[in-house]
Amino acid sequence: MRTAMPEARDDHGPTAVHGTPVYGINVGPETRCEHYGAETDVIAIRFACCNRFYPCHACHDAVADHEAAVWPREAFDEPAVLCGVCGTVFAINTYLQAESACRNCGAAFNPGCEQHHALYFEPPPSSGLDPYSRRT
Ligand SMILES: [Zn+2]
Ligand SMILES: [Zn+2]
Ligand SMILES: [Zn+2]
Repeated sequence: MRTAMPEARDDHGPTAVHGTPVYGINVGPETRCEHYGAETDVIAIRFACCNRFYPCHACHDAVADHEAAVWPREAFDEPAVLCGVCGTVFAINTYLQAESACRNCGAAFNPGCEQHHALYFEPPPSSGLDPYSRRT
């Protein structure tokens, strides 16, 4: 006999974020997910492999049936980063230059995401300098 446990939120179906379907685990209305649920975790990224938005790479791993692909640098003008607060989709370049805030609504984005950019976006050509670790 089934108990009257509250039904868990659908783990796999997309959540509509301002009309954009976002896939993943426990995706909230501003794209927070099972893995990243802080105040500033409000972006989702469209993956190059399947053209679906996910809040994070772990959500992609959990839900997709394939390896995640990173965006090649020549595709950085593709609209692929969704602000969960206002629903604007930004080009990757715009997002990467946006200093961890939404250009449209001003919502703060998690600056820690920078450490994970290589999981989503092809890193800059190696020049012996790591541009992400220059701020010492
Ligand atoms: Zn994919
Ligand atoms: Zn996640
Ligand atoms: Zn926004």
